Amino acid sequence: MQELTHWINGRHVKGSSGRFGDVYNPATGEVQARVPLASTAELNAAVAAAAEAQVKWGATNPQRRARVMMEAVRLINRDMDKLAEKLSSEHGKTFADAKGDVQRGLEVVEFCIGAPHLLKGEFTDSAGPGIDMYSLRQPLGVAAGITPFNFPAMIPLWKMGPALACGNAFILKPSERDPSVPLMLAEIFQEAGLPDGLLQVVNGDKEAVDAILDNPVIAAVGFVGSTPIAQYIYARGCENGKRVQCFGGAKNHMIIMPDADMDQAADALVGAGYGAAGERCMAVSVAVPVGEGTAEALRERLVPRIEKLKVGPWTAGDDVDYGPVVTQAAKDNILRLVQTGIDQGADLVVDGRDFTLQGYEGGFFVGPHFFDHVTPEMDIYRHEIFGPVLSMVRAASYEEALGLAMDHEYGNGTAIFTRDGDAARDFANRINIGMVGINVPIPVPLAYHTFGGWKKSGFGDLNQHGPDAFRFYTRTKTVTTRWPSGIKEGSAFNFKAMD
Ligand code: NAD
Repeated sequence: MQELTHWINGRHVKGSSGRFGDVYNPATGEVQARVPLASTAELNAAVAAAAEAQVKWGATNPQRRARVMMEAVRLINRDMDKLAEKLSSEHGKTFADAKGDVQRGLEVVEFCIGAPHLLKGEFTDSAGPGIDMYSLRQPLGVAAGITPFNFPAMIPLWKMGPALACGNAFILKPSERDPSVPLMLAEIFQEAGLPDGLLQVVNGDKEAVDAILDNPVIAAVGFVGSTPIAQYIYARGCENGKRVQCFGGAKNHMIIMPDADMDQAADALVGAGYGAAGERCMAVSVAVPVGEGTAEALRERLVPRIEKLKVGPWTAGDDVDYGPVVTQAAKDNILRLVQTGIDQGADLVVDGRDFTLQGYEGGFFVGPHFFDHVTPEMDIYRHEIFGPVLSMVRAASYEEALGLAMDHEYGNGTAIFTRDGDAARDFANRINIGMVGINVPIPVPLAYHTFGGWKKSGFGDLNQHGPDAFRFYTRTKTVTTRWPSGIKEGSAFNFKAMD
């Protein structure tokens, strides 16, 4: 069986803790590799080496750092298929979806090519007599990122790109479920010209995470994952005086107004609800049709589409709409929540519990589920399921639909489908959720805007990528200068005197 490594000081390094985690092929259920789980000592050694390497990198001019980003973009494009294949084999998502995962990360590295412009700072000429004032954006030193299993290329790239472009060293602790792609990305950055020691990939679990949170050299921590862990990391990181941003779970509502194009809304719901087996933080998990007529028209269109979904391994190519979920534990949790939905009185219209695939009986496949008549107190509505399960909550009015999304504890993404500009505008203005789509089911902002949820989906002040990332990975220093004397005739600095 393959034994994975850490990536330390520009080379693959075996784990020395003696602890390992299993990496599965979710389509077959077999363990395909084991990943070392770092000890506190291993993590601390990686950080010490990173701090040493950062001194020169932080003083390197930003254009040179941007050139490393530019070359990394070329190399990631060169290796796109290789990265996507590995990603699919450990995560389970389709090949097309895996390429999308790499692509959306790559776009943030492309944005980082603009680092010289983004790091320029500010200048005030003649703030007083002989006084000028300027602000610098300086790197923090060593930053760390802790990332989830569901986007093993995109989210590490969202973090390492800006952190490195700003002149920091970066410690990545990727998900132990699918750690191979982050290791491949580290190799690519080295080939792109990144000096050794600046990007350390330390694999691990809670022990490595706690070591990151307690290491005094690490100035900033960025986390993406589930909300309970986000809250834990935010609290412990802040307590230790670090700059921390944590992005958590989600329960994304899509509101369908009576005037919406129902076929378009049904297509959007199926893609956004079941794509990647629902394992996306921007997946739509709640459909809220406004009015009984809308609910009936939507249900009539949704059911045949959901029943037609093709579930299978990524190796089946375009014949598959979505693949297995990531582990048996994830599958068990999804089926447990489905059972609570049945027990609590929701109407299970499409039942995927008995789904099996010939030849892949050990795989972590979950068939599509669709519940109608879901109500806000049910567990399937309150909790993030993170699986191919869509719930429909019928609302009598626009205000009731808006209130549902507003009152939910999560606030990552949301969407409204309508032809009415007034409704769309009102929704975008009033909703207390970070990312909003108008006739767009998964409104993930592009690299030059920022990504982040509200309420229990995001902790900290700044979002991911876009200009916020350059604020998060730098600190501002403001310098006031006073040169009050002017040029004096006859002084040693006078041009004439020097003649
Ligand atoms: P997770 O919280 O289980 O793990 C995320 C990271 O935290 C991993 O690196 C893991 O090793 C580490 N971790 C896990 N348990 C820990 C513990 N007890 N102490 C310290 N560290 C721990 O999340 P996941 O299952 O990998 O990812 C799915 C979750 O991530 C979902 O809730 C999803 O909504 C969320 N997510 C959010 C966003 C966003 O931008 N808001 C994006 C992607 C995923």
